[in-house]
Amino acid sequence: MTQVRTRFAPSPTGFIHLGNIRSALYPWAFARASKGVFILRIEDTDVERSSQEAVDVILESMQWLGLDIDEGPFYQMQRMDRYKAALQDMVAKGLVYPCYMSTTELDALRERQMANKEKPRYDGTWRPEPGKTLPPVPEGVQPVLRFKNPVGGSVVWDDKVKGRIEISNDELDDLVIARPDGTPTYNFCVVIDDLDMAITHVIRGDDHVNNTPRQINILRALGHEPPVYAHLPTVLNEQGEKMSKRHGAKAVTQYRDEGYLADAVVNYLARLGWSHGDDEIFSRQQLVEWFNLDHLGKSAGQFDEAKLRWVAQQHMKTTADEVLAPLVRGQWAARGVQVPAALASGDLLNRACALFKDRCSTTVELADWLSMYVTDVQPPAEELVAQLTDAVKPAVAALRERLATVTWDKASIALALKETLAQFSLKMPQLAIPVRLLVCGRSQTPSVDAVLELFERENVLKRLQLT
Ligand code: GLU
Repeated sequence: MTQVRTRFAPSPTGFIHLGNIRSALYPWAFARASKGVFILRIEDTDVERSSQEAVDVILESMQWLGLDIDEGPFYQMQRMDRYKAALQDMVAKGLVYPCYMSTTELDALRERQMANKEKPRYDGTWRPEPGKTLPPVPEGVQPVLRFKNPVGGSVVWDDKVKGRIEISNDELDDLVIARPDGTPTYNFCVVIDDLDMAITHVIRGDDHVNNTPRQINILRALGHEPPVYAHLPTVLNEQGEKMSKRHGAKAVTQYRDEGYLADAVVNYLARLGWSHGDDEIFSRQQLVEWFNLDHLGKSAGQFDEAKLRWVAQQHMKTTADEVLAPLVRGQWAARGVQVPAALASGDLLNRACALFKDRCSTTVELADWLSMYVTDVQPPAEELVAQLTDAVKPAVAALRERLATVTWDKASIALALKETLAQFSLKMPQLAIPVRLLVCGRSQTPSVDAVLELFERENVLKRLQLT
């Protein structure tokens, strides 16, 4: 069987959001699932809008999400000689012809057609036909090259998303494939690239579905059979508009900076247009085992921040503490927090991650929770006044005394709490809440003995000191 070869072919125009990167994730996942090859091709022929910085943003986003490339990046601007040679070849084979129609003539043609309620299309004036006399070649005009689209019949393909698509050749006029200065046009470059890169599966946004019949006709004229196509429906934002920077979409790298785990975003995006039964949460390995082109969604996926957060939370729960701890350290480093030696390395921070990760969607949230271990806390004043009553204060002092001498582990801390409750006839929350407020700066945390155990004893004693 032929090896699967897929590609992601972005135009580097400066911004890449989740909807865009999904067009990289699917061909990547399909290549990995099929033990195939994933290629990155940079479509930078729009020189005005393309930049190396934009390419770097694409590379950075792909790297963060773990979409590793097997071949490329190839840059279309570096392949111009190849396209020009391919054009020469088309000329030699009589597959194209020069067209000298000026823009004014083309505009007039279009207006006439619109006035007659016809679809505007090139009328074939310069297309050579047996027995046809072409108009005299105007002087000093550089022609464009047009592709001789087949006459009659239709182009048919079985789209992996949209099903069977049939476009009559009568709908397709003769496409310009080279400009007057000899530079190749977009659709031509794509065809040559997909051929040279031996792409077997074109997985791309459905904004390109209109290009496909044209690309197939050019491919066939060159003697090749088309690849498999899967045209992915658009991704909509929460308001139901096409996701775009203008409509408030965030850059992929912003999710990284907000502390989302890459695997969670990969999981979320995979589900946003593809399914594996009812599975909502899966690992990268599972995705790579399961991904295929038979379960792509037909309708537009709509971005849902709450769902992303939920998926992210499930991934936080199952991510190893050893993986989370360095990410939390990274967050702290970015905030300029001085991390005490006990948490800078070793097992303590892993244990803290284990205790708090269930309640977080991102490593930023986890770093926020765990900051009680590395920075001073400010208990909300009103809550503290309400909780730390005169009746409770002696109990806090007594607890502090016990904690000064117990073995510093969860069981002994729990016992110290229990003894203090009994001594003052208090219920657990009456003591635990003020203790949490003083030590953690907030009234709700996981089990207080487990939380305290991960502090240095001196720190707890200092925070429980009431005068
Ligand atoms: N460069 C195109 C885009 O960014 C993709 C073309 C393709 O995948 O064929 O929309």
